[in-house]
Amino acid sequence: MSNLKVAVVGAGVIGITTAVELQKQFRNANITIIADKFNTSTTSYVAAGLFRPGTSFSGVNEDITRVHPHIVRNHYIEKIVPIYRAATEEELKLCPGNWKYGSFFTTFLTQCSLYLPWAAEKFVSAGGNIVEQQIKSLSSVGLEYDVTVNCTGLGAKYLCNDHKLVPIRGQVVKHDITLGGCRQYDSYDLNINKYDGLSIRERCEALVPSLQNAKTVAQRVVLRPHRDTVRVEKEVQKANGKRIKIVHNYGHGGYGVTTAPGTALHACQLVKEILMGNSKL
Ligand SMILES: Cc1cc2nc3c(=O)[nH]c(=O)nc-3n(C[C@H](O)[C@H](O)[C@H](O)COP(=O)(O)OP(=O)(O)OC[C@H]3O[C@@H](n4cnc5c(N)ncnc54)[C@H](O)[C@@H]3O)c2cc1C
Repeated sequence: MSNLKVAVVGAGVIGITTAVELQKQFRNANITIIADKFNTSTTSYVAAGLFRPGTSFSGVNEDITRVHPHIVRNHYIEKIVPIYRAATEEELKLCPGNWKYGSFFTTFLTQCSLYLPWAAEKFVSAGGNIVEQQIKSLSSVGLEYDVTVNCTGLGAKYLCNDHKLVPIRGQVVKHDITLGGCRQYDSYDLNINKYDGLSIRERCEALVPSLQNAKTVAQRVVLRPHRDTVRVEKEVQKANGKRIKIVHNYGHGGYGVTTAPGTALHACQLVKEILMGNSKL
C-alpha cells in the first residue's frame, strides 16, 4: 500500500515493537511514532524484561499456593522454556518462607534499556518518523492519519476513558542488576517508598547474601498498565465527518515485554482488516 499514513501513539516496548512490525508488513507506508515520553522515562525501561507469561494463579492467596503443587506450575511456559521442573527441596530452602512446592525455570531477558534505543534506531533507519508530542485525543491524530494505533499503556485510561485499566505500582532497587519489584494494585503513588525499598533489599539479601555489600545506585517507581484482559481491538470513531480508524494495543500489565511481539502481530492484522474495511464496526 503506498502513501498510507500510520500513527503509532506510544514509545514504550509495545509502541516501538508494533511500529517496527508495521514497517515490516507495510513496506511503503509512512509510519510515525508519537509520544510524550521516551526510553528512560517509560514504564518499559524499568521492566526486568523476563520472558515469563503470568498464569491464572495470580490472585490466589499465598496459603493455597504453598500447599498445592499444581498452583505453582506455570502451564504457559512449562513447554517452551529450556528448563522447567519442580524446585528441589534445597532450592525451596533458598527462598525465605517455608515453601512446600515451587517451580524452577530458565528463561531469557529483554533488557529495555538496550532494546528500546536499538528498536527506535532500526525504525528510524528504515524511514520511520518519531514525534515528541502529548496527545489529547486519538481522533485528533486520526484526522491526519489513515489509521492510528494506540499503544499508550496507562495513558489509555484517560484517552479512552477506560475504567478497566488500572495501575499496578512497581518499585525496584537498581544496582548493576535490578532487585524487586513490588506489585501494588490500583496504587497511583509515584513516590519512592523507603519501606518498599528496604523490604525488597531484605528479601533479595536473604536469597543472595552477597548482595549485602552491593550499593544501591537508584530506585525507580512506575505503574504497570494492567487490564483484564489486554485490549487489542479495532474501533471506528467519527470526527469532523471522517471515519477515524483506531487499533488499540494496551493494558499489558506486568507482561508487556513478554507479550509485545505477539500483540504487535495481532495489532498489525487488525490494521490490515480495518484498512480493508473488514471491520464489522
Ligand atoms: C518492576 C517491573 C518489572 C517488570 N518486569 C517485567 C518482566 O520481567 N517481563 C515482562 O514481560 N514485563 C515486565 N514488566 C511489565 C512491563 O514493564 C509493561 O508491561 C510494559 O512496559 C508496558 O509497556 P507499554 O509500552 O504499554 O507502556 P509504557 O512503557 O508506559 O509506554 C507508554 C507510552 O505511551 C506514551 N503515552 C501515553 N499517553 C500518551 C499521550 N496522551 N500522548 C502521547 N504519548 C502518550 C508514553 O509517553 C509512552 O511512550 C515489569 C514492570 C515493572 C513495573
